Amino acid sequence: MLECIPTRKVEHTAGKINPAKACQPLGAMYAALGIHGCLPHSHGSQGCCAYHRMALTRHFRDPIMASSSSFTEGASVFGGAANLKASIKNVFKIYNPEIMAVHTTCLSETIGDDVPTIIKQSEVPEGKIVIHANTPSYVGSHVTGFSNMCKAMVSYLAESDGRAKKERVNILPGFVNPGDMREIKRLVRELGVEMTVFPDTSNVVDAPLTGRYEMYPEGGATVAEIRDSGNSKLTLALGAWSSEAAGALLQEKCGVPCVPLKIPIGLKATDEFIMALKDGFGVPVPRSLTIERGQVVDTLIDTHFHYQGKKVAVVGDPDLVIPLTEFLLTMGMVPAYVMTGTPGQRFESEIQQMLDEAGIKDGVAKAEGDLFELHKWVKDNPVDLLIGNTHCKYIARAEDVPLVRFGFPIFDRAVHYLMPVVGYRGCLRLIEQISNALLERRDRDCKDEDYELIL
Ligand code: SF4
Repeated sequence: MLECIPTRKVEHTAGKINPAKACQPLGAMYAALGIHGCLPHSHGSQGCCAYHRMALTRHFRDPIMASSSSFTEGASVFGGAANLKASIKNVFKIYNPEIMAVHTTCLSETIGDDVPTIIKQSEVPEGKIVIHANTPSYVGSHVTGFSNMCKAMVSYLAESDGRAKKERVNILPGFVNPGDMREIKRLVRELGVEMTVFPDTSNVVDAPLTGRYEMYPEGGATVAEIRDSGNSKLTLALGAWSSEAAGALLQEKCGVPCVPLKIPIGLKATDEFIMALKDGFGVPVPRSLTIERGQVVDTLIDTHFHYQGKKVAVVGDPDLVIPLTEFLLTMGMVPAYVMTGTPGQRFESEIQQMLDEAGIKDGVAKAEGDLFELHKWVKDNPVDLLIGNTHCKYIARAEDVPLVRFGFPIFDRAVHYLMPVVGYRGCLRLIEQISNALLERRDRDCKDEDYELIL
């Protein structure tokens, strides 16, 4: 196990050891599942497609459907055009989706397949649609792939009819769980605002068991809804890495103003989300949401002594980690190490600014990091708590630090993808998880005479 990680100073610059990210097509596949009746298609070898399906299936505990161009040696030498054309023909004939969303892999990108031209030359049945995103995996991360597929939805589908914009908001929710998407929709409904959410994986990757197999579950944004997003009055792009590019394209293409926001994790980011809707549509904030917010503030007061001043290491996707760090600071915790595997200097500057404003000295913010480095930091200067995905459990075990599972992927815990971390309800869940992880540790470690019934 990882107890053997060296204690001496080790700097590695040639590559990553346990990167804190996955590759682009995985994110593109997840985004494509958020279109109703869509079959994601991986333009590459079967191994890539199998890995991405498996990772998503393990996280969501639901079968994830996707097809592959099934490259072999021939495609590597002669290009993948023939494979993609045959795939498009076969997929519509056999699986009959409404839309295919093609993403590339390392191999098809390296070959240089001209996917838009191949799609134009393919036999696409009348009324069916094929969209595509370039997702080279040696650039960015799964978050970049998600963003690229969201952009493809806008560039292929969104249209403006040139008439007055409809009193409706487009929500680009970012790379979050279906439980989070449901919660974001509930908040918008509470405010009484019409919405289009895309991609929307609720009722797709968490579809209920009905006893009947549905290749295309009832969830997802329909092609018609995404088309009509060009006629909405406002777009809220949640998450700079996963949603901003699609929101900016929608503004440029269809004239829908885009407000970039954080994913509403924590009190401040949720307040900003609610206020953007209030200001954008002139609606009052309902009492129900004021009560929910008050419960969070009350809970923070009731529980602050569990986590106040505790040192924490956080790792995950930038759009999740930035608002989470903001919330940890609201809770009075000390984010000592904050890391993402996704590239982007903006991550480091935003986190550093938060730490500086909170007066936290010696905090480390790092983009494009890896878990080896995080482990070294934790080994050299221990923390009280680790927050990150399932891969962090090895660091947690080796260094005997409690772990709160957060982000993607989570393979070893149940029900997480249904339970929101966004909104005020998400605040309560995070407080519960963090408090209880620390209380469990206290119960485990304390002397008999300090073993209390009430904490
Ligand atoms: S990194 Fe490239 S080769 Fe590996 S699974 Fe991702 S797309 Fe496929």
